[in-house]
Amino acid sequence: MSATEVLRGDSVPLSNDPAATQMSSGALSGTQGSPWGVVKVPPWGSPGVVAAPTCSLEDVMSEELVKQLQQEELPQEGQPRVTEPVAEMTPFLDFGDGEVSSDLLLAQMLQHEFDREHDSLLQIEENHVNKASRVKVSFENFRSVHPSLADENDDSDDSDDWEDSAGPADVTPNFNKTGIMGKGKNIVTKHDATICGRKNMARVMESFPPGFETGDGSKFDMKLSNRVYNELKLHSVADSKRSRRLHEKKEHSTAVSAVDAKTRLILYKLVNQDLLESVNGVISTGKESVVFHAVGGSKVLTAKDGTELGTVPKECAIKVFKTTLTDFKNRAQYVKGDVRFFKDEFKKQNPRKIMKIWAEKEETNLRRMQRHGIPCPSVVILRKHVLVMSFIGSDQCPATQLKEARLSTVDAQLAYEQCIENMKKMQRECLLVHADLSEYNMLWHSESSTLYFIDVSQAVDVMHPHAMEFLLRDCTNVVKFFTRAGVVDVPPPCDLFNEITGLGLTGEGPDLLMQIEEYEKNEERLRSGQGQDYAFEFFFERSQAEHKHSKTKSDDRDNESPTQCNTPAVELDKEDSSSDS
Ligand code: ADP
Ligand code: MN
Repeated sequence: MSATEVLRGDSVPLSNDPAATQMSSGALSGTQGSPWGVVKVPPWGSPGVVAAPTCSLEDVMSEELVKQLQQEELPQEGQPRVTEPVAEMTPFLDFGDGEVSSDLLLAQMLQHEFDREHDSLLQIEENHVNKASRVKVSFENFRSVHPSLADENDDSDDSDDWEDSAGPADVTPNFNKTGIMGKGKNIVTKHDATICGRKNMARVMESFPPGFETGDGSKFDMKLSNRVYNELKLHSVADSKRSRRLHEKKEHSTAVSAVDAKTRLILYKLVNQDLLESVNGVISTGKESVVFHAVGGSKVLTAKDGTELGTVPKECAIKVFKTTLTDFKNRAQYVKGDVRFFKDEFKKQNPRKIMKIWAEKEETNLRRMQRHGIPCPSVVILRKHVLVMSFIGSDQCPATQLKEARLSTVDAQLAYEQCIENMKKMQRECLLVHADLSEYNMLWHSESSTLYFIDVSQAVDVMHPHAMEFLLRDCTNVVKFFTRAGVVDVPPPCDLFNEITGLGLTGEGPDLLMQIEEYEKNEERLRSGQGQDYAFEFFFERSQAEHKHSKTKSDDRDNESPTQCNTPAVELDKEDSSSDS
């Protein structure tokens, strides 16, 4: 075989070993035999492994090839950054072969898992302690009990207290009722220093938590004075309290920052019910939520009336809402004043309930957007504060946030147009204002050149008392981003705001904001039934102001604006009573 032949790689097996040949042909299919056993494919499938194309020696030597390879390595202008497939991470939930059928069973399984984990740690500790010693210490008494809780109730520091409790059998002689043993000069009381010392030593060996350094003296005739014993005891109690505090802190912080046991249980159930096949790696951990990648199960979704809605998408995203105290306050403004969610619920400051309302809000908003054809994830199912939706992206690679996407001029223009189109639809047809629209909450799916709106938990109804302020903020963000992205002819925020709402306000900055606030106040007055003639007042006042600027323009707009402003309220009633409730 010549060198050129090898370089050309004309599919010559590297050895004549049949196992090696089999491996080269069968490795890609996943479960075939290989010299080191069965190759297992991860449950979420593996990104296809493609053999690198081979080339001839001439090709290798050619300068052109070098250039071409360099070109390929450089990120192409206009192509979005390739995102790592999330599912390459270890699965979040790992299922054995065991079947689980009920909540009780699940809870027991979880408890069992915890206990087992604890016991195995204890075993390690025990082995560690016994390793160098011929005298073995058993931790049997501590199995399935948190070490810090052992001996918890007895934190008395009174040396006389132990007299009442039965001591270890081998060191406690038989005293009579008065605590005396023997006769004459052999009389021994229970306060005898030697006996107390031995007793104390036995107690140290038996009742102090594992990991608490006392030395190994169980088979020696060692005595501990009451004073030493009590000091040790005090120290042990303080130590176990500190360890418990740390332990609790850790538990608490995981509950806040990631996924607590209850959420885990919800995820287990989703898999158990075949709604999901597996829960994979984390796509994003934000201040307000954790988003996981998941593989859809085989269950057919049905509506409440029993009609079939189709199967779960092959790839899903799971958004788990989490809440810290500061978030409550920030979020309250979006829920208060939204007629759909302003019940008494938000007042009950229970984090779990608030997370649930938040998830419900996102679900409702997403469904509404879907109905009106705005590109966004479609809801699969909502369970408490866990929202399962379709995954935006392909082959485990999530679509890039607009912020991260490296858009070509053409794509930037396309994204901009879609963004404006979506905003208009959202305001006029969905009757929603995103209220947190920015390059962080838009995803660019490059394969389909589609811009998706996501993260709509805080989106408000157009009837929200501050909806127009939120919309202006969205417009400002969008204008800023697309101007920086190099899109030409991006109008100023005010113009975009007018284009979307048809309100025809003028000015910018604080002046514009004041007009918007004024408008919102009037709307509010109208809704509460106190100012039926507001429309006239508002547009009269505004036309007066505009009169000063330009006489002709203001007249035209006055004729069309009132109807446009009033339609949303009417349509909203219709829609909410029919579909959203
Ligand atoms: P947060 O409130 O934490 O900002 P988001 O809904 O914005 O939550 O989600 C955070 C990130 O997770 C997004 O920026 C996006 O990258 C990813 N993500 C969220 N939903 C999906 C989805 N359906 N498909 C793919 N990626 C998603
Ligand atoms: Mn977000």
